[in-house]
Amino acid sequence: MAMTKDVVVIGAGVIGCAVGYELARRGFRCVNVDRAPTAGYGSTSSSSTIVRAHYSTRDGVAMAYEGFSYWRHWAEYLETTDAGGLARFVNCGFLSLESHDDAIGRRVRQHYLTVGVEHEILDARQLADRLPFCDLRRFGPPKRPEAPDFFNEPPVDDRLEGIFTPGAGYINDAQLTAYNLQRAAERLGGQFLFGHEVTDIVKEGGRTAGVRFADGGVCWAPVVVNVTGPHSAAVNRLAGVADTMRVTTRPMRHEVHVVPSPAGVDFEQAGCPTMDSDLGIYFRPQAGNMIMVGSLDPPCDPPDWCDDPDRVDHQVTEPQFQLQVFRLARRIPALPIPRTPLGVADLYDVSSDWLPIYDRSDLPGFYMAVGTSGNQFKNAAVAGHLMAELISACENGLDHDGEPLQIRGRFTGQAIDVGFFSRLRDPVASSSSVMG
Ligand SMILES: Cc1cc2nc3c(=O)[nH]c(=O)nc-3n(C[C@H](O)[C@H](O)[C@H](O)COP(=O)(O)OP(=O)(O)OC[C@H]3O[C@@H](n4cnc5c(N)ncnc54)[C@H](O)[C@@H]3O)c2cc1C
Repeated sequence: MAMTKDVVVIGAGVIGCAVGYELARRGFRCVNVDRAPTAGYGSTSSSSTIVRAHYSTRDGVAMAYEGFSYWRHWAEYLETTDAGGLARFVNCGFLSLESHDDAIGRRVRQHYLTVGVEHEILDARQLADRLPFCDLRRFGPPKRPEAPDFFNEPPVDDRLEGIFTPGAGYINDAQLTAYNLQRAAERLGGQFLFGHEVTDIVKEGGRTAGVRFADGGVCWAPVVVNVTGPHSAAVNRLAGVADTMRVTTRPMRHEVHVVPSPAGVDFEQAGCPTMDSDLGIYFRPQAGNMIMVGSLDPPCDPPDWCDDPDRVDHQVTEPQFQLQVFRLARRIPALPIPRTPLGVADLYDVSSDWLPIYDRSDLPGFYMAVGTSGNQFKNAAVAGHLMAELISACENGLDHDGEPLQIRGRFTGQAIDVGFFSRLRDPVASSSSVMG
């Protein structure tokens, strides 16, 4: 098989599909190639899909705030209907539970004011009214359940407060978002090739010339974009650019669990995505009056690096289930705890500073949208727009490394400095976890 295109996007997860759609909107002849059988089959399928603006940097907040509008106007953005239905944005807000001495929380509030993110500060009494089934005293810093005092140590009688952002929420179906973007791209001439693994980046005359597949076939294209999620480092090595980056990427395994709501609590109605840094967890409502719970990777938990993404164990484990669910049970004392773990296990593509890399590379024509660090589902469409603008500008001669591209958000008009996401940045000190 041999074909010729303007651009090959490697990967058809939610971000790869968004890049494909945004390129098709600009008239590029683009193909997304994926070794999987269908769109959104990679780490996208396991996403907790939380849409929040809570990031430690101004650029992170601005980008995520812009993302709210894409989800709110999903059908209009796609300019198409999909026989399989459209993903739904559950706009129930996002709550960050914080202690009065939370330095990151204070910084985030400042960014909210700068960017204009609508938010409310909830004091202890307002929080208790909203979450009567929660124990809102301080338990932190996070501990592991094997600590002898894990269940019995009395919490500090110092109540948490909350920052609530009403424009936030979650998406009901992660994989469907990728299908929706695929259909929208196809309507504009975008093509998708599944079951095709890229095994080489073809180069000619010192620049990208296309990709080679495992079966020997080639797709010729002057531009190739690496959007392979947890395989990003491997594909950057194929291109020969891995050693030219200051910020690098590495796969890390994560589990997300699901438990029933306590009897008499309608968490689907009463709850919203909640970040609980006091206990080192996040949780959100899940269809069927369930609660989904993930980890914020507190320092007491060793990271589960997985250097070969093809050997990841997708089964959830009892120890990790207990770790996350027992922590949640401290916040929600009436939480029923099933004996059998239920949930998903998948890989984050973690960058050196937990912020994404949306950039060109040292190989002309080779670009990357990688290092999404468990926190870029919400930004998929913004990233698609950003990458398409970046590719157009660089292919028209912009020296992005020297004079970084500045763009404006399509909906909010917010300035986004694309250089902030450079592979050549010094890792950002304020970001060191999935919160970004
Ligand atoms: C457990 C978990 C929870 C998360 N929760 C949230 C959340 O609440 N909010 C949020 O904003 N983000 C969250 N994220 C992050 C978010 O889901 C990801 O950033 C996003 O889905 C990544 O999309 P992607 O398209 O870049 O990658 P992927 O969805 O991983 O897609 C990459 C694709 O590349 C393909 N591929 C790889 N190598 C090759 C090759 N050599 N040839 C061809 N194809 C290849 C794969 O088959 C795959 O389909 C979470 C992630 C995980 C794992």
